[in-house]
Formats: sequence, C-alpha cells, structure tokens
Amino acid sequence: MTMLTVDVGLDTPHEYATGISVAEIIKNVHGRKSGAVAALVDGNQVDLSFEVVSDCSVHPIIGSTEEGLYILRHSCAHLLAQAVLEFFPDAKPTIGPPIEHGFYYDFQMPAPSEEDLRAIEKRMKELVKQNLKVEREEYDIETLREMFADNQFKIEIMNEKIGDGNGSSVYRQGDFVDLCRGPHVPSTAHLRWFKLTNVSTAFWRADSSRETLVRIYGMCYASKEDLQARETLLREAAKRDHRKLGKDLKLFHIDEMVGQGLILWTPRGTVVRNELQHFISEHLNRQGYQQVYTPHIGKLDLYRTSGHFPYYQESQYPPIVERDTLRRLSDEGCSCGELSNLMSDGEIDGYMLKPMNCPHHIRIYASQQRSYRDLPLRLAEFGTVYRWEQSGEISGMTRVRGFTQDDAHLFVTEDQIEQEVLGCIELVKVIFGTLGMDDYRVRVGLRDSDSEKYVGDPASWDKAEDACRNAVKSLGVEFSEEPGEAAFYGPKIDFVVKDVLGREWQLGTVQVDYNLPERFELTYTGSDGEKHRPVMIHRAPFGSMERFCGVLIEHFGGMFPTWLSPTQVHILTISEKHIEYANKIAGKLRQEGIRVELDSSDDTIGKKLRTHRAMRPAYLLILGDDESTTETVSYLGPDREQVNGVDIQTFVESLQNEIINRV
Ligand SMILES: [Zn+2]
Ligand SMILES: [Zn+2]
Repeated sequence: MTMLTVDVGLDTPHEYATGISVAEIIKNVHGRKSGAVAALVDGNQVDLSFEVVSDCSVHPIIGSTEEGLYILRHSCAHLLAQAVLEFFPDAKPTIGPPIEHGFYYDFQMPAPSEEDLRAIEKRMKELVKQNLKVEREEYDIETLREMFADNQFKIEIMNEKIGDGNGSSVYRQGDFVDLCRGPHVPSTAHLRWFKLTNVSTAFWRADSSRETLVRIYGMCYASKEDLQARETLLREAAKRDHRKLGKDLKLFHIDEMVGQGLILWTPRGTVVRNELQHFISEHLNRQGYQQVYTPHIGKLDLYRTSGHFPYYQESQYPPIVERDTLRRLSDEGCSCGELSNLMSDGEIDGYMLKPMNCPHHIRIYASQQRSYRDLPLRLAEFGTVYRWEQSGEISGMTRVRGFTQDDAHLFVTEDQIEQEVLGCIELVKVIFGTLGMDDYRVRVGLRDSDSEKYVGDPASWDKAEDACRNAVKSLGVEFSEEPGEAAFYGPKIDFVVKDVLGREWQLGTVQVDYNLPERFELTYTGSDGEKHRPVMIHRAPFGSMERFCGVLIEHFGGMFPTWLSPTQVHILTISEKHIEYANKIAGKLRQEGIRVELDSSDDTIGKKLRTHRAMRPAYLLILGDDESTTETVSYLGPDREQVNGVDIQTFVESLQNEIINRV
C-alpha cells in the first residue's frame, strides 16, 4: 500500500494510505464534530468525499467561517431547487448563488404564493431530515446536454462556460441534479439553519429583454443561534422601519398627488428637522461658517460651466424652458427632440432644478474680489436639490427625488485643506456623539495610481490625500484607505455609521475639489499680490436631512431624546375635575418653551395612556387628585418608569437641563 505524507496543520505531517477521503483525515485530526463542511486541499476547495492520492495539505473548511457559510448557503440553494421541482415539476432552475446572509435561486416558473413558499420550506426541512447524500459526478458536455436538454438556461450556461470537448461536474441529491462546480456539503443534514424569506422577480442575465424569472430568497447560517440572532435583528428592524414609524408617529408623508420621492414634512417631523438644523448650525457658527440662501433653480449656462449639464442628464429633472422661447420655437415648428438638442448645444437657454448647491455658492464667492485674508471662506446652506431617481429606486426618506443637504463649500488655500477637513470631521464627531451614534467609521477615498482620469497635478493630489489622511488620524476615528475611490477631481472622506442594531448607513462626504475652481476660473489675491486658484471642499457630512432623519427614526426606534422629541410632554387628565390644573401646568410648560400636548378628553386614563404612549413622547404626565391638591406632577419618563409627586418647578428644571444639554 502506498503511503502519503499529509500536512494537516500540525507540527508533524500525518501518514495515510493513498485513496483516503479528506473527511476521514479531518475526522482523524479534528474529531467527529469538527464542524467541517468541505476542505482545502493544497489551498483548493474540495468536497469532503475528495480522495487524496498524492502528498498534499488538508485543512477543514468550518461551516461558521466565511468560506464555510458560502458553501452552506450555496448548498441551501440546491436544496431549495430540489423542493421547488417537487411542487412545480415544470419549473426551470437557472442560477442559485449564495449571498450575504443567505442565498437565492432564480426559476422560470409561475410566482409561488406565500403558502407555496411555506410548503417549499417545509419540504426542504424534510429533505434535511432524510439526510440525502450530496454526490459529485463528472460528465462530458455531450452527456450534460442530454441531461439538461429540457432546460435552455442550463444549456446556455454550458455553451458559454464549458464549451465543446470539455466536461463539468454535477451534484446529485435524491432525484435532483444540478450543474455545478461545487464544493457542497456531503449530505443534506448539514443544512439545518435556514429560512425562506421572500420572493421577487429578476431577469435572466439581469437583462430586461430576456426572460422574467422568479427569485426565491432564503437566509442560512451555521448555527441555530446565528439564525435566531438574524431573525431577531430583522424583526427589530421591521419595528423600527422609518417608513412605518414615520407614518405611525406622523413625522412625514409621501403623497402620490405631490409626487414620488418628494417628502412632505408634517409638523411633528418638521420639529425634529428644525432641532437638528439648529444643532448643526450652532456648531457651524462656532467653526466660522457663514450661512447663505440660494434659489432652487439656476440657468443652464451655470450648469454647463460646472459640467452638470448636459452630462448627468439622466439623473436630473428635465430643464425648464422660458415661455417666450417655447412659443417662438413652436411657431417655428421645432420638435421636442430638436428642442432638447438645442438646449444641449447651448443654442437656447433655460433653467434647471438644481442638482447641487455648489455652482450657486461659487457665484457668491465670485461676486467679490477675494484676497488670501478672506480664506478660508466657508459658505453653508441647508440647500434643497433635486435628482431624478428611477421609481424602483425610491424608498421612504432614504432614496428620494428632492432633498435638503447640510451643505457647505469651503474655499481654501492648499495649505488650509488639512485644518478644514479636520474641522469637518470634528463636527461629525460631536454630532454623532450627541446622538449616541458612537460606532462609526470613515473611508478615505484616494486616487488609483494607475489611472489617468484625475484632474490637477500629482503634487497637489499627494498633498490633499495626506491632508485627509492626517485629519482622520489626528481625530483618532476608525478609518480605512480606499485607493481608487477618489472622485476624478479630488480625494474624499465618507462617513459610515452603525445604528443600535449594528446596521451600517452611509451618510455624507467631505470632498476636496480642484476641478470646479478651475472651471469657474476662481481666484484670490495672495500675499504676493498675484492671483491664485483656491481649492474647494464640498462637505455634507450627514448627507441630507431626509436621509439623516430617516436613519435617526430607525436608530431611536421613534423614541427620540427629549430635545428632539416632536412633543416633549403629553399631559393626560384622569377626570374632568383635573382639567383646570392640567391647563395651568400646560401653560407653564409652554411658557418655558417646552412642546406640550394636552389630552383632557373623556377617555379613560388607560385608553389615554395607550394612545399617547404610541406617539412616544419623552414624558407622559398623569394628573389626578393627588397632583392637583399638592401642586405636583406624576409622570412616566423616557425610561417609562413611573415617578410620583414631583414639585412642578423641579420637573421643569430637570426637563430644561435635559433639553439644553441634549442628553
Ligand atoms: Zn451548486
Ligand atoms: Zn458641492
């Protein structure tokens, strides 16, 4: 018998008889409960049934690792297809890859109902119990073409990927066989912790001119705990969904009659937005920003100079043409197509809803002769911009067609970049800190050294990249450098924040720009008396007020801290007798600038509590006999613990303290 030397990751290699399976080797080295779902042989992924016939290294792929999960999820996709075919024998499986958290499989089939989905899932569980062997078989392409003759999708894949004269592997479990390179788990019993989640549609090859397919999604993990953790997270996330809470808490409204992706801020939502804007403004003022207002439209020529028009037209609302021009052109019999060409060429002018605030701010800069003493000039605006998002892309407050950026443009000398970028990051740190979003990271987008697409000279780039890097380092926030992620006109910094559920949200950016000052020929007079070109920094660290508020609604689950709460105190009377006292308390609180809602209706206190709790105010005041006779208040605070008999002055002071300090 020939013996093999196998490196199993221990100090000394092991000796095995040739033909031994990697499953046996792993069992020998790591025990029966190794958690292996496949193996690496000389670094290549193989099934556990793989037989070793020469000296090599063998390492297990454990189910809970990234590679292991990939295999579990991919194997789950096969299991799904097997179950689907039992219920829908005419369904044509196409592709079924693993994805983050799970897998999907695309089928040509009628859309399954929710009931079908549950039945398919149940069947998958039964197939797991049967512990079917998952076996690899190898065939030449002619045989494969016969095996999959009734599935044109698999044939298409084969013709493209395998080609004549070659072969491929298939994986078989029970009656089901799928074209696949593998590796897979050795048997269906390895696939216990999965769940089908939803169904959507997709196009074959993601090509809208090709067949429409049904995509069934599932999630899959290596352990019960991990699956349950994910389910809990999804349940929590659904409860916090800002689209649902925004409606329940009357924070914003989206109205078909107004238009998709256009947010109507209702009074309660407006309070939240205003408080945030005040908060941000306070810090902008401290940092020497100056606020400006600019209109929502600008001439096409402005955007021709900035480069936003006619490029990027697909992501903008179409231009607005002056009435006189339109009349003249229609008298001349000009068609719509010609009109649009004339606009692109610059032969006729018009206006555009602004897609960016920068050109307007640039014209404010250029409205005066600037000297080095004026720099840095920091112009800030909560500026509303409009972008055309495809209707399929629009979602709640996070993907919209009109939004207000916490925008600012800094006009600086090259030497000032670092200090100013630092200021931007400081601001973000303070604001995230106050909102309890302490878990965030920063991405520094640098240029790709192999690419020629960048404007500005390399020495300036080096300087600007160093400035960004140093600014991030000196604040001690977690960051990563991402070569190739810079814009063509300068390096940038992105903020990615984690909410209480650990979900990541990309908010805004700080962007260095060498391009626009050039395009608009901006200058300042240096200490040498010569004209110099300033550098611009665009910064909107929270992205937009819409997106930021949407994220905050989910982060707080609708239970805003007192200072942000749309209504800070809800006063509930126990009976009619207490209305007078309640009015007095409400008046006093309002006098102190506290946002109060008073419910003196005939409803029972139980019903009132339920109704008002649902609106999630910071405080629920309950006023009855004891309170009115002793001139005190009893309340449920932000933690919803009941506190009784608090002197009204003491209550007001502690409330003011919370609000002023934004705790
Ligand atoms: Zn496969
Ligand atoms: Zn800008």
